[in-house]
Amino acid sequence: MSILQLTGGWIEVIAGVMFSGKSEELMRRVRRAMIARKRVQVFKSHLDDRYAGLFAVSSHDGRSVEAIPVDSSAQIAARIDPMAHVIAIDEAQFLDEGIGNVATSLAVRGRRVILAGTDTDFRGEPFGPMPRLLAIAEVVDKLHAICVLCGAPACRNQRLIFGEPAAWDSPVIMVGAKDTYEARCRACHVVVRGNAAQAGLGI
Ligand code: ADP
Ligand code: ZN
Repeated sequence: MSILQLTGGWIEVIAGVMFSGKSEELMRRVRRAMIARKRVQVFKSHLDDRYAGLFAVSSHDGRSVEAIPVDSSAQIAARIDPMAHVIAIDEAQFLDEGIGNVATSLAVRGRRVILAGTDTDFRGEPFGPMPRLLAIAEVVDKLHAICVLCGAPACRNQRLIFGEPAAWDSPVIMVGAKDTYEARCRACHVVVRGNAAQAGLGI
C-alpha cells in the first residue's frame, strides 16, 4: 500500500539494523511533512544519547523541530501536542510495550505516527516492542546497512565487547559500557554461546 493512498491516521514503522539509515529516513519524512505545512512532533528515546541534541530537523522555509527526549510511552502520551498532525518517534526499540497502544490511539485520532527502531538485538532476537509495532503498522520499511566484513546487505547488529563478539547472555542494554556495534550480514554475525563469564569477557 502506498503511503499516498492512506487517509485519516496510520502507523508507519522504519525498521532495520544500526547504521541502516533509519534516523535519516525518519528525518526525511519529517522534513517533507513540514514542507506540506503539517505540525510535527519528534520524540527520541533517552537511552540512546549518542546523538543527544543533534536531532533537529529544519525545513527550507526556516521552521525546525527538535526531538523531545523520553524514557517511556507514558511520557510520550503526556507530552503529545493536541495540534500535531504527525508524531515521529526515533529509537522506538528502547520503549516499553505501551508504545503500541499509544501509537494506535494516536492513529485512531487521525494522526500519522512514524516509528523508527532497531528490530533485532545483538543476538538477532526481536527487540523490545518492535515485533508488535511491526504487526500493527499499516506501512513497514526494513532498511539494511552494509556488512563491514563482506560488503553484503547487513541485517544484524554485531556487538563487540573489548573488540570481541559478545556472549549470548550479556545484558542487551549496558549504558556506558565499553561495547561497540557494527553492521554485519547473517553469515558474518557472531554470538558467543554459553555464559559470559566462561567466555572470559569479564561481565
Ligand atoms: P540508523 O538510524 O539506522 O542507526 P543513521 O540514519 O543514524 O542510521 O545512519 C546512517 C548512516 O550511517 C549512513 O548514511 C552512513 O553514512 C553511515 N554508516 C556507517 N556505517 C555504515 C554501514 N556499515 N552501512 C551503511 N551505512 C553506514
Ligand atoms: Zn557479511
